[in-house]
Amino acid sequence: MKESLEIAQLGNPILRQQAQLVDNLSDQHLQRLIDELITTVVSQNGVGIAAPQVSQSYRLFIVASRPNLRYPHAPVMEPTVMLNPRIIAHSQEMVKDWEGCLSIPGIRGLVPRYRSVEVEYTGRDGQLQQQELTDFVARIFQHEYDHLNGIVFLDRVESTQEMITEQEYLKRV
Ligand code: ZN
Repeated sequence: MKESLEIAQLGNPILRQQAQLVDNLSDQHLQRLIDELITTVVSQNGVGIAAPQVSQSYRLFIVASRPNLRYPHAPVMEPTVMLNPRIIAHSQEMVKDWEGCLSIPGIRGLVPRYRSVEVEYTGRDGQLQQQELTDFVARIFQHEYDHLNGIVFLDRVESTQEMITEQEYLKRV
């Protein structure tokens, strides 16, 4: 089992940087980083994690939805590694739902996101993948994708009235 990594917290400038494209998939450092990101997201009860959150400014994230203490109703999926992800198309419809972030502990906010997105990314094996994501998994993708562009979910909350503590959030679900 690989080690869990330290999470960069809001205020750390790395969370505000544009991350670099990944072009060295066979690099051992990169493969190790992927393993460590998976270990970290699982151990921290996350449903996704982006490389800049562990102070590695690369266009790479893990989507790993499953029910846990922080997201009791998340759908189950295998952790999926997405390198150099892109949004090719999206629904017109947007939906608002609660989000949190391992880099912003203790806070949830209502964030508008596209209900569905058509995405393209390179998998861990180097194969280009195209996928249509909807609802919660589409939300995770959009949240993590924002991290690659220096955006955090608080930037998309429309009113401070739509921010609550994690303790309050867990009373509601
Ligand atoms: Zn986040």
